[in-house]
Amino acid sequence: MKTVYNRTKIIATLGPASSGKETLTNMIRAGLDVARVNFSHGDHATHKKAIDLVRSINEKHDTHIGVLADLQGPKIRVGKMEGEGALLVKGAKIEITTKKVIGTAEQIYISYQRFPKDVKPGELILLDDGKIRIKIVSTDHKTKAVAEVVHGGVLKSNKGVNLPNTKLTLPSLSEKDLADLDFALDQGVEWVALSFVRDAKDINELRKLINAKKSRARIIAKIEKPEALENIDAIIEATDAIMVARGDLGVEIPMEKVPVFQKRLVEKARTMAKPVIIATQMMETMMEFPQPTRAEANDVANSVLDGADALMLSGETSVGKFPVGVIEAMQSIIRNVENEFYNYTRLNIPDKDKETFLSDSICYSSCVLAEQVGAKGLIGMTRSGYTAFELSSHRPKADIFIFTNNRFLLNMLSLVWGVRGLYYNKFVSTDETFFDVHDILKAKKLIKKGDVIINSASMPIDAKGRTNTIKVTKID
Ligand code: PEP
Repeated sequence: MKTVYNRTKIIATLGPASSGKETLTNMIRAGLDVARVNFSHGDHATHKKAIDLVRSINEKHDTHIGVLADLQGPKIRVGKMEGEGALLVKGAKIEITTKKVIGTAEQIYISYQRFPKDVKPGELILLDDGKIRIKIVSTDHKTKAVAEVVHGGVLKSNKGVNLPNTKLTLPSLSEKDLADLDFALDQGVEWVALSFVRDAKDINELRKLINAKKSRARIIAKIEKPEALENIDAIIEATDAIMVARGDLGVEIPMEKVPVFQKRLVEKARTMAKPVIIATQMMETMMEFPQPTRAEANDVANSVLDGADALMLSGETSVGKFPVGVIEAMQSIIRNVENEFYNYTRLNIPDKDKETFLSDSICYSSCVLAEQVGAKGLIGMTRSGYTAFELSSHRPKADIFIFTNNRFLLNMLSLVWGVRGLYYNKFVSTDETFFDVHDILKAKKLIKKGDVIINSASMPIDAKGRTNTIKVTKID
């Protein structure tokens, strides 16, 4: 039923606009790969309905759409404001208190109890996505701090607060995140994204909780704080994937720096064989209109060219007017770039010091060979998904077909660049398995007579060890 396959995957946030069975089915038909449930909005009952719907479509149509649970993380907000909000005027002083008050132009509540202890005079505080800027003048280190308005505006209730210069001592997972995580893992989600990651410790803590629940969910570190950029190597090492969360990142660092950071983060993650997602405002105009702007089409195309694994839609599919149309439009931009201008085969030289050096070298060599012989497909067999991540990281031109008997992995791999997962459960002898999987691909019309195929596998196949073998076949 899924009729289009991109190498660069599409993630769509589910919400009221995409919660109907027909709409979601059509989104999948149009090219959706991963469904995101965003815990910054909605409740568990709504999210459960959305996840159940994805699972039932997967079952009915034999698709492998993955589910990504996006945790809100330590989001800081102002409290309730009087009336329609208060006008903060440039140059005026304002008190920020941790005691619950109705906010005015003179005093506002902040949901972060350690705020007066953690901020220092001179630090910038950004309100409402950076539309209003205030600078700390003094703090009593207990319950309140005083700031001067640098850039004014009307501050409304519950708006978000960003503290780009402050070293936060907030835990990386709030009480709400812990409850949401518990719920998401009970639903068997394949991916968990953590917002406002600061260092690798945040990832390790989340990993412990996931392991304690005996879940196999993989972690996405959302990169949206300057601190995360400082610790990026350790974060990528610790996580399973990253997201360039351009919404908050563009508030916390000067917006002109975001495009270059996007390119650097994509390259770094890809060379470490960790998937990378580009998020936010990709097709924003399609919240209201049936077409993206030319600039948005360019942004999508450039993100594909950068080498992203997946592009994410937020409001466009959760509350926008064209949840199916936006997938169709994004898919056609991706397809055009991949057909006409993509820089395939970006080889990463395997690292001799890694424990996985030999199997990494097999994946690397398979991709070199695929290029050399013009292979149609690279076939990997996997129990952990490792081969899929490795093959994909080299961005080969050949299709990547990954066979596994693990349905969780099939859904999880739907986020990874170029990977097409297929179910297979007869790991008997190497020759028999190779013939079998070729037959499956031929029957699905994914390969045909005359195509050259490269299989990588672990021999003997029933020992289920690390990939150690390459075989080249011309299909007859
Ligand atoms: C972002 O800030 O770009 C982002 C994806 O985060 P969220 O949508 O969760 O605010």
